[in-house]
Amino acid sequence: MSAKPETFQFQTEVQQLLNLIINSLYSNPDIFLRELISNASDAIDKLQFKAQTDPDILGGDGEFKIKLKPDGIAQTFEISDNGIGMTRDEIIENIGTIAKSGTAAFLEAIEAAQSSEVLAPELIGQFGVGFYSAFIVAKKVTLITRAAGEETATKWESHGDGSYSLEETTRDSRGTTIILDLKQKEKEGKDFTEEWVVRDIVKRHSDFVAYPIVMDVERDEPIPEAEQIKDKEGKPIGETTRKVVREETLNSMKAIWTRPKDEVTDEEHEEFYKHLAHDWNPPLERLHMKFEGTTEYQTLLYIPAKAPFDLFHADRKHGIQLYCKRVFIMDDCKDLLPEYLRFVKGVVDAADLNLNVSREILQQDRLVMNIRKNLIKKVLDLLAKMEEDTYIKFHEEFGAVIKEGIYTDHGRKEKLAALARYKSTKSDDKWVSLDTYIKNMAEGQEDIYYITGDNLAALAGSPHLERLKAKDYEVLLMTDPVDEWVVQALTEYDGKKLKSAEKGDLKLDDTEQKDPETFNALFGFIKGKLEEKIKEVKPSVRLKDSVACLSGDDYDMSAYMEKILKSSGQEVPKTKRILELNTDHPLLDKINTLFEKDRDNPALGDYSQLLYDIAVVGEGGKVDNPGAFSKMVGDLMSKAIE
Ligand code: ADP
Repeated sequence: MSAKPETFQFQTEVQQLLNLIINSLYSNPDIFLRELISNASDAIDKLQFKAQTDPDILGGDGEFKIKLKPDGIAQTFEISDNGIGMTRDEIIENIGTIAKSGTAAFLEAIEAAQSSEVLAPELIGQFGVGFYSAFIVAKKVTLITRAAGEETATKWESHGDGSYSLEETTRDSRGTTIILDLKQKEKEGKDFTEEWVVRDIVKRHSDFVAYPIVMDVERDEPIPEAEQIKDKEGKPIGETTRKVVREETLNSMKAIWTRPKDEVTDEEHEEFYKHLAHDWNPPLERLHMKFEGTTEYQTLLYIPAKAPFDLFHADRKHGIQLYCKRVFIMDDCKDLLPEYLRFVKGVVDAADLNLNVSREILQQDRLVMNIRKNLIKKVLDLLAKMEEDTYIKFHEEFGAVIKEGIYTDHGRKEKLAALARYKSTKSDDKWVSLDTYIKNMAEGQEDIYYITGDNLAALAGSPHLERLKAKDYEVLLMTDPVDEWVVQALTEYDGKKLKSAEKGDLKLDDTEQKDPETFNALFGFIKGKLEEKIKEVKPSVRLKDSVACLSGDDYDMSAYMEKILKSSGQEVPKTKRILELNTDHPLLDKINTLFEKDRDNPALGDYSQLLYDIAVVGEGGKVDNPGAFSKMVGDLMSKAIE
């Protein structure tokens, strides 16, 4: 390593994020302190976690604290911790680069939303502003850090303008110090070096932090009698008080989850949640519980109001922190809640946890299994009991995640299905539950009908639904890719079968079939013409007004599923579908007459192709040969008008 400072460029995304933070959060400068204290507290957590298996790493210094040093004359603000620190490589990895997948796309989305000023902070909040929030208040940020177990320290410095420098330096002991060179304060702006300003921010945003947040404060203290200079009569001459500097702890450190439920205010919950979740928006709901019995544990869980940007990315984190008697054990604890509840944030504090178990065996630990079972139940009950309007807000953010549980958690399938919501042909753009659907079923209706696809409007107007609509049967319009998996696992709900409107026989027994023999020969001919594309031509069981549609057998892959798999890069064998033709449609009689007159009429081949194309267009698909299609339609129109 060279002793001279070396200059590096920020990753494009970092500079973009930095600019977004400065531009959209300048009116909330206080948050820089909350974020830097959170990072310091996380760094101490990480050290504690490591010390569980490697106690020597503490090197005799187990008295953790976070020290704030405001300096009004120099206009600087220092935050130091004795946490885990960072090596030079870790600085490069953590600060100046964002490794999370999907970052670039996410930032693009916020930039696009920038014009609406309200949205930007909310969106950035979902990303977690973290360390970079320092640049809201600082014109220059210096970070000096020494990783636990290392001898040398590293200094990082940046003006937030695209580059940073690194150089080797020294630090007395392990930990991180961040020095902010404060920007000139605006007229009305707060002076972050004033004692009361700092106290106020810490109290409001960071009171519950588990480690002491300390600051040196100067006070006038009475000089003890014996030390006072006095005149002959014993009256003091000169000063009776003197200035002393003492280190004071600014936060109560009271773990919120251990406090009585009705004592914790909404504001306190909001702050704690922000610290925990790195989310700007207040949570939608919370669960604060104490379990007593054979084992004892406390838990405080939050349901976020907004989905984090990486909810569907492989490297996303789970939101549960595990504590044992108020001591931090681990972050991102995946064993306490299933994947489909990964959006829940919070803390579980279990007194009887066996701390010798490693991360890997934790999931087999009986106590952990027991807690997990209970938490799932409580969270699902909370969701089920939520007021419908609030629940819809939740569902719009996390509905797709909950639906994952329907096919991954067999035992809770029905319970989870009850939480699913869908738009339908009758819901007028509102969301309906399966229970409401069943309650509103038409007379004589036995099954739950649905159709899957990516375009709500196309589904609602799909020809496949014509007969169902004629019977006044409601059809669920499933537009989420996850729904394809849901319907594979959920073949029945509350004793009613789920039936795809585009597959199999709908058994709507009012279809007055014409003599099936009438069209046999024609259908055989059409099938011959379209052999490559379809497996069968059949009189339709679902069309009423349209002439043609494509359908599948009960167990065929749906067109939407095929599309999803293809777009995720998977090899999908082409499923041949069935061409259904509406034998009540006058067009079919006409084609049939033409066919019976002269089976070699070349127009018949074109009409076969056209019937197929019409079916494709009717479900919002793309025809194979759009040029030929539009030419044929043009020719036919011109003939029709003649
Ligand atoms: P986040 O905290 O959301 O991961 P930040 O941008 O705030 O994002 O920080 C990036 C990373 O830098 C942290 O994950 C951590 O690894 C490291 N870091 C930040 N502050 C400290 C600190 N005080 N001590 C040790 N590491 C830190």
